[in-house]
Amino acid sequence: MADQIVECPHCGRRNRVPPAASGVPRCGNCHRPLPWIVDAGDDTFAEIVEQATIPVVVDLWATWCGPCRMVSPALERVACELAGTIKLVKVDVDAARKVSERFSVQAVPTLLIVKGGQVIARQAGAAPAAALHRWIESALANAGDQAT
Ligand SMILES: [Zn+2]
Repeated sequence: MADQIVECPHCGRRNRVPPAASGVPRCGNCHRPLPWIVDAGDDTFAEIVEQATIPVVVDLWATWCGPCRMVSPALERVACELAGTIKLVKVDVDAARKVSERFSVQAVPTLLIVKGGQVIARQAGAAPAAALHRWIESALANAGDQAT
């Protein structure tokens, strides 16, 4: 798994960000959290998604899926808005058969929110960025209630 170069949205510094790590990637210059957007497949799903120490939004998408091309940029926007709170992981279902079987993906896009290795929310179909943002925040708020 190769590191990615992520430009800090606050100060413009280019940072090297690993696909899997504990905690949250922060800018080396201004120390604010960086958007964390990573691709995963069958071999890397456990390390990138299940072992993450922050909640992960999983975008199960396919190259031939029209709505996916609208949802992916919307999710990237939300991942920037919620930098430090969530990690966004994109999984190409055709390249990751085991992951798509495991989560019984019938339609794309299917979105999962995974916290501590458990799926806490799931939805299928496209939605605009504002709706995705609300869905993620309410799922995380509910998960927090259950934990206490
Ligand atoms: Zn910065």
